[in-house]
Amino acid sequence: MNKLSFLPLLILAFFSCSDSMVNNEQKGDTTAVEIKSDFADFSERFTADLWRLNPIWATYEGYHLHAAELPIPNQERDQQKLDFATNWLEELKMLDTNSLNPSEMMDYYLIRDYLVAQPFYINEFKSSEWNPASYNLGGAFFQVLNYKKTSLEKRLGDISKKLEKVPLYYEAAKNNLKNPTKVHTELAIQQLEGSKRIFNRQILDSAKQAGMDEATMNDIQDKVLKAVSAIDDFVIHLNEILPSLEEEGRSFRIGKEQFERKFSAEIQSEYTAQEIFEIAVEEKSILHDNLYRLSDMLWEKYLKEEEKPGNRLGQIRRVLDEVAKNHVHRDSFVVAIRRQIPALEKFVREKDLLTMDPDKPLVVRETPEYMRGFAGASISAPGPYDKEAETYYNVTPLDHYSEEEAESYLREYNDYTLQILNIHEAIPGHYTQLVYSNQSPSIIKSVLGNGAMIEGWAVYTERMMLENEYGAGSPEIGLMYYKWNLRTVCNTILDYGIHVLDFTEEDAMRLLVKEGFQEQAEAEGKWRRARLSQVQLCSYFTGYHEIRELRDTLRKTTSDFDLKRFHEDFLSYGSAPVKYIKRRMLQNSDTTNLLP
Ligand code: ZN
Ligand code: ZN
Repeated sequence: MNKLSFLPLLILAFFSCSDSMVNNEQKGDTTAVEIKSDFADFSERFTADLWRLNPIWATYEGYHLHAAELPIPNQERDQQKLDFATNWLEELKMLDTNSLNPSEMMDYYLIRDYLVAQPFYINEFKSSEWNPASYNLGGAFFQVLNYKKTSLEKRLGDISKKLEKVPLYYEAAKNNLKNPTKVHTELAIQQLEGSKRIFNRQILDSAKQAGMDEATMNDIQDKVLKAVSAIDDFVIHLNEILPSLEEEGRSFRIGKEQFERKFSAEIQSEYTAQEIFEIAVEEKSILHDNLYRLSDMLWEKYLKEEEKPGNRLGQIRRVLDEVAKNHVHRDSFVVAIRRQIPALEKFVREKDLLTMDPDKPLVVRETPEYMRGFAGASISAPGPYDKEAETYYNVTPLDHYSEEEAESYLREYNDYTLQILNIHEAIPGHYTQLVYSNQSPSIIKSVLGNGAMIEGWAVYTERMMLENEYGAGSPEIGLMYYKWNLRTVCNTILDYGIHVLDFTEEDAMRLLVKEGFQEQAEAEGKWRRARLSQVQLCSYFTGYHEIRELRDTLRKTTSDFDLKRFHEDFLSYGSAPVKYIKRRMLQNSDTTNLLP
């Protein structure tokens, strides 16, 4: 199963956009504007300018004012992005930070850190030279075509203008490529073939539906044809260079220096990547100890007749396989999740772990057809410009699975793991965090929010629930929790291992399959994902570790520590980096001796 599908959609959107940084040539005239002290006004002007410069990213966030634009990825554009960062950093310096409230202060940090990181991406990281998959316009057109709030005529008008630029766009893309990696080139070829369908099929079908006059229809057909042929051209070029990349292509490993820089730009941790890697390695051995202890207990219950394998990892795996047989029937998958949500709410209320708004119950639904790329479960939250919309917990039924596939999936999401998944995605994980962050709505946090804080919170709640005796101390749920948590730990080890320590595929498989108890197919998928991305796989563990550490510090040093108050206080700052929230919370507690 593809584990990527369990990321909430908003996170996926965030990473896919911030990673590609595709964009427009217009430059906002920022220098002439007079500075007002009002931070709300500042951030409004900042986002308006951000969207002027990044019209594609804007449409992903539900902002369609510049939907007709398609920026050409050339040097001029790089310069505009650098100027944007310089100008807005200047403006930021002129703000009086003493007048900002805590939430605004977090926005301030997010904007500053985003701007400070721009020169690194443009001048040093330069994925535009080695990642052909960053030139995929499928999503850019999909976002405009499917934005149902404007009329189809308007959307097609925007698309028509956007289409004109596609040939120039791919010409620039070809010029930018210097020495692409083999894995990113293969990904680009595969994805671009898929994207062509949006042009060939979806745009043309919509145009027919709109009942345009013949001249307009011919015009759009002609533009689609030219766009598709530009994509074809680019793919042919990639196919031509592909054979040589085996030997001469750039390595997918970004190396220690760039990994540290990217880690610091994206994760915003107090730790370096190397430190987090070392903590993860230590954590792995603690988790193995815990798994072994529980596997001993459970052996008696499940496998008394059988002889023990005589080695720790073998014994753990054997017990995991046996316990995973406890799972719901394939037809009850959605029902089982739906039933779980009120039980989790009840538990959180009874244990007084945090307050939950009774007016906003989570709606569990079957994943709509058009969203069903993968099986699984995800939270789908309204974008920052669409606040009134509902938040859904999408669960994909297992209808399309063969018996064998369903069985394998259900063992993975067995009775115990399914509960942990629901904690992570829904209550008190992602969904609860979202409800809190919506109490002080901030466009900045929803657009530039910190992924490590968001994922870290969800991972933290899994453990926190068990610490508060969720599952009534059942060794089965404990066992499955440790295995689940081990995946987060292994993601970090793998990410750093591949990019900095030259892990081979064999090293990766040993880590994931042997020490992480994953299935071969899952591990292979992870090996691929970890070569295509950098740093993102560290976000879960880093955020989790920092939140847990903050809580434990406060618990030790605060005389009247209260877990519920800690949770509510922590969540009240919105999706900001944990280190900034920490600074605030330590300032506000009586632990003045711990101030940095
Ligand atoms: Zn998550
Ligand atoms: Zn079964």
